[in-house]
Amino acid sequence: MDEIIKAISEDGFVSISVISSRELTERARNVHGASPVVTAALGRTLAAASIIGSTLKKPDASLTVRINGGGPAGSIIVVSDEKGSVRGYVSNPSADLPSTAEGKLDVGGVVGKDGMLSVIKDFGEKEPYTGAVELVSGEIAEDFTAYFAASEQIPSACAFGVLVGRDRPVLAAGGYIIQLLPGAPEGVISKVEENVAATGAVTGVLERAGADALMESVMSGFSPRILERSEVGYRCTCSRERFLTAVLSLDKSELDDMRAKGEPIEVCCQFCEAVYVFDTTELFSC
Ligand code: ZN
Repeated sequence: MDEIIKAISEDGFVSISVISSRELTERARNVHGASPVVTAALGRTLAAASIIGSTLKKPDASLTVRINGGGPAGSIIVVSDEKGSVRGYVSNPSADLPSTAEGKLDVGGVVGKDGMLSVIKDFGEKEPYTGAVELVSGEIAEDFTAYFAASEQIPSACAFGVLVGRDRPVLAAGGYIIQLLPGAPEGVISKVEENVAATGAVTGVLERAGADALMESVMSGFSPRILERSEVGYRCTCSRERFLTAVLSLDKSELDDMRAKGEPIEVCCQFCEAVYVFDTTELFSC
């Protein structure tokens, strides 16, 4: 089961959200037939979006993350609901690159860093809130750290990882966002930095010991108290009705073409690969 664990330090200056997201990342890999390096890029983005989405709270609020780094993967788009359930897609899921000299998946290379990370929070009211930053490395975690510093003025450290081999299921995925609350003393900052360094790669801890152990490692010395635990997953909200509305909102000339041909229309959801077929009598009955 995938879950988000939220905790706070005893002194109230440090908060953390940890996600274990192996199952939802594996679902994304299967839906899109993604290469290992694209699975890692998408999986890290899904983890980040799920954590940030889970902070929205308001029913029917949603969060959209867009990353356009100019790399071979193309655009990454991830949408989260207010509980942290996510869906996502990548323009070129089969994009591939050799591993780096250290033997790591070249996520920064496949995403690119010549572009923006944008985060759109839609609370169902007038204008959605949009924050955007230039990509730092395309490695995703660093880019989200920059986003929190620039757009939300919150000192944060983010770490996300996906452990996946070629043509194999995802072994581990997840990460954390740790944030300092206003007034945190200097000593707290250096202790967080020390813990982040000592914890190392998140996938190693998640695979070996799970999300609780990851939280305890990053919060070492802060006597963390768990505030909340919530289940998250890969969830698409598409439906036949939504696609029917979308088809009917096409240009009149396109609709006239469809009507003239008289053949059934097939549409595929880009987030979950569900296929909806509409015959022309259904489309043009009204
Ligand atoms: Zn769908």
